Amino acid sequence: MADSGNQITDDRRTTLPEGGEAMSRPKGRSLKPLSLLWPYVRRHWITVCVALVFLIGAAAVSLAIPMLLGRAADAGQAAGPDPGALLRLIDQAFLWVFAAAVGAGVLGAFRFYFVSRFGERIAADLRRDLYAHLLRLSPAYHAKMRSGEAVSRLTADVTLIENFLGSSASLATRTLITTLGALGLMIAVNWQLGLTLLAMLPVAVLPVMGIGRIIRNMSNRAQSRLADAGAEAAETLDAIELVQAYGREDRQLSVFAESIEATFAAAMKRTSARALMIVLVSVLLFGGFTGVLWLGARSVANGEMSFGDLATMVMYAAYAGSGLGMLAEVYGEVMRAAGAADRAAEVLRETPEIAAPAHPKPMPAQGKGALSFENVTFHYGQDDASALEDFSLEVKPGEFVALVGPSGAGKTTVFRLALRLFDPQGGAIRLDGVAATEADPRDWRRRFAYAPQESALFTGTAAENIRFGRDDADNAVLEQAARMAEAMGFLDEKDGLATPLGQKGRSLSGGQRQRIALARALVRDAPVLLLDEATSALDSESEAAVRRAIENAATGRTTLVIAHRLSTVRRADRILVMEHGRIVEEGTHDTLVAQGGLYARLAELQFTER
Ligand code: ADP
Repeated sequence: MADSGNQITDDRRTTLPEGGEAMSRPKGRSLKPLSLLWPYVRRHWITVCVALVFLIGAAAVSLAIPMLLGRAADAGQAAGPDPGALLRLIDQAFLWVFAAAVGAGVLGAFRFYFVSRFGERIAADLRRDLYAHLLRLSPAYHAKMRSGEAVSRLTADVTLIENFLGSSASLATRTLITTLGALGLMIAVNWQLGLTLLAMLPVAVLPVMGIGRIIRNMSNRAQSRLADAGAEAAETLDAIELVQAYGREDRQLSVFAESIEATFAAAMKRTSARALMIVLVSVLLFGGFTGVLWLGARSVANGEMSFGDLATMVMYAAYAGSGLGMLAEVYGEVMRAAGAADRAAEVLRETPEIAAPAHPKPMPAQGKGALSFENVTFHYGQDDASALEDFSLEVKPGEFVALVGPSGAGKTTVFRLALRLFDPQGGAIRLDGVAATEADPRDWRRRFAYAPQESALFTGTAAENIRFGRDDADNAVLEQAARMAEAMGFLDEKDGLATPLGQKGRSLSGGQRQRIALARALVRDAPVLLLDEATSALDSESEAAVRRAIENAATGRTTLVIAHRLSTVRRADRILVMEHGRIVEEGTHDTLVAQGGLYARLAELQFTER
């Protein structure tokens, strides 16, 4: 059972891709990370108590069986010469044994039910909490972590914990109780023999534990490679068009195959060590067993011990022996669960960088959409150059502002800061008089509708994708938004709002995706619209449709557009030309062209390049 497939998640931190180092810490060999589970255990304390009662009950009853069997075997001596009394005693004794066996079975079934329920419940809670936390963590955190990595923490790591709680933990407790109980009872039945066996115990336990440790260490590296290979494969499959277009299939496969082979080699080494362990455990087990029988048989022959006691001793020896073997296996499982808990705890420990202040200021009920940046300075990483440098901008309610500039100028960063996905290191951002840092981020973001450039659609229907903007929008509202965004035309050619968009909306063209994204922003009906215009070349018909859609969307609300098209820029009340995180020119199309600066050069290129 220690060899389940979920070993792949173990210890992969050692080979995280770039950025991952920030999250990795030296791997401890301790069980301490399991304390993460304590609050969950406490929350379900009733289940824990019920499970414990059945667990201890089942163990106690099964420990009673050898004793009862011994009694039954010795019934002859107790009964004396009367054959009828003897038979009655035998019947009675075996009836007790049978009752105990039934009791152990029934209690065991209840134990299994409650312990499994406990494991499943906690796994479900933990998954939900982890996902809730991942959703709250800022994009800066997610940029550091491969998305496959986060998902594997949610699924594989929690599965390890689930196995641990639902089976290994109970198995360990049960085995510990029966093993210690069996050893104690052996001493009680015949202390000379019991103590002799106890003294021999380390001889059996130490080599088994030693091999167990070797097995674990050997598997760790390959497991981390396998997890990486998994994340790599997920990324490759996600970009399957690119991979095939560049003919990279063989190359990608060989990278993957190499990791898989390394994992296989390590698995084989581990398997050899396990095979050795099996030999060792059986030799020790049967050795010990034979020893008990031999010493016991001599004691019986000498008249020092009854035959029933010998039978009891042999059964307890079997309990203790198999218990020890089991504990050696469970030990590996427990350590793996500790590793998984550590990785889960790592996520939960991370605090969201952007959180509501203790007493958030409410946003005005009727937001007008007056947005201002005051001397904002921002850089992504500590060592990165400023993406925005002393950036100031005041957008009046209802104004249509176009941001233009070369790639890397900081246009997208302006949007990210406005949406409070990042907080600036200096300066302030205000909306309708409230500073971003004073408000609850959720309340703040409700004032914005954001239509990114591309890849912002999810697998599902057009209706589902548009409703993402506002949960309570009914079909009439969705349709109106889709119509305003000029999306109804192409949707009606298929199934209307029920049209499935394919994975991530890939069954649509770039211009169509943009219009769905616009419809989603429209349905939100927020005072500020942030729109990153599609750069992909559109045919003139879709270009006209997108232009009309943008005009419709911009009506009656503050609109900031990262513009790539002359038609959009011309429509703007004001154009801001950005370069190196600053506004370098500002004005209308005509005044800026007349200036003959950066804008004039960009306009000449028709904004087709970023
Ligand atoms: P634009 O949208 O004008 O092309 P951006 O706002 O995306 O420019 O980028 C501004 C600068 O910030 C660029 O130098 C870019 O390399 C950097 N940058 C953008 N996003 C990140 C990020 N997530 N982490 C680090 N640097 C980034």
